[in-house]
Amino acid sequence: MHELSVCQSLVDQVEQIALTHGAKSVELVKLRIGPLSGVEPLLLQHAYPFASAGTLAAESTLVIELVPIKVSCEACGTETEAEPGWLVCGACGSCHTTLVSGDEMMLMSVELIAAERTNHV
Ligand SMILES: [Zn+2]
Repeated sequence: MHELSVCQSLVDQVEQIALTHGAKSVELVKLRIGPLSGVEPLLLQHAYPFASAGTLAAESTLVIELVPIKVSCEACGTETEAEPGWLVCGACGSCHTTLVSGDEMMLMSVELIAAERTNHV
């Protein structure tokens, strides 16, 4: 399953951050996902407990923020939201657009539990 391997590399990344900061464990992981990232947020959410089992992130909560698709129009310069597979300008209908957001999978923040206090990274 594609999402499980995506999830495993996410957990690796999170665990690396936790180790760098000398944290005891991870409490919360915030992720931004766009519809064009090729990752299904729901499947990722389901895969997370399996991928994080036995790691510092085992008890953590994964919060996924969905990012809308946005395109910038080369014809009229407007930035509008677009649908997957239909990246046209919402203002003038031109198909000469550049993708601004919607294809990212970005780790936004990680909340760690330190031995004595909580760190926000
Ligand atoms: Zn336009």
